[in-house]
Amino acid sequence: MVKVNVKKFLSLSGVVLVLVGSLTACGKKADCNVSGNHAHLYKNEKGYVRYIDKEYLTYEGYTRNEEYKNIQGDEELYKFLDKKDLMRIDDNLDLLLAVQGTNKDYTEYRYKYTYMQPIPHTMRVGKVTTTYFTYIPQTRYSWTSDPNHSRLTGETRLCHHVYVAYKIEKDEKGKYVLIPSPQVDDITTVMEEYPYISNEYCKIVTMDGLEADYEDGKQEDMSLEDRNRADEYDATYGEEPIIEQQSYTEEKGKSLVKRYTDET
Ligand SMILES: [Zn+2]
Repeated sequence: MVKVNVKKFLSLSGVVLVLVGSLTACGKKADCNVSGNHAHLYKNEKGYVRYIDKEYLTYEGYTRNEEYKNIQGDEELYKFLDKKDLMRIDDNLDLLLAVQGTNKDYTEYRYKYTYMQPIPHTMRVGKVTTTYFTYIPQTRYSWTSDPNHSRLTGETRLCHHVYVAYKIEKDEKGKYVLIPSPQVDDITTVMEEYPYISNEYCKIVTMDGLEADYEDGKQEDMSLEDRNRADEYDATYGEEPIIEQQSYTEEKGKSLVKRYTDET
């Protein structure tokens, strides 16, 4: 029987869970004797660096360095760069060239799999609400780079890396706006006009130039995939639901799942 991750399923189905506590804990402040408005060099685990006008020891995955630059007069720009998670290409050039050098074209193969679509039902007895699931097998498709993957359909596609940079301009109201570059094979060809990148500067596209689409396989909860299920299910889409006897039971006021079942 397929085991379902209830919390994951609820989030996939668009139910808003109320989390306890805050996700944004502030880091520790560093001592700093630098006078004047300045931005410190921050570096993340992958080696990308950004100048950020903060004095935290760590900030959003980046670690503060003693190195800094004077940003007098550019404070608003640095605030904008921080808000949009942008870094300069020239500050990261060696790393970007190394990434581009290793990003080779590759082939992907289409495959079929059976997805067990969970349909939740709730039942209330007194203070106890039970959620149980009916599973409906569905045939779905996705892409893999493994040529020996099970249930290949025979279709293939070529995947290619492209890069996008940004320039910053001011609109008629004087507000900063981001202008993306065209998608290019080599980011150094646009860096003079578009000096910034975001964390998502690299995209994988197929021959039509559109971002490689995985239809469903990649975004869904992989635990709901069943690659080995016999093809006979493919013909029974929606016809042969499987009732999961294992249920999720919670007492009133004790869990997020209860909150969900109350509202349905
Ligand atoms: Zn400082």
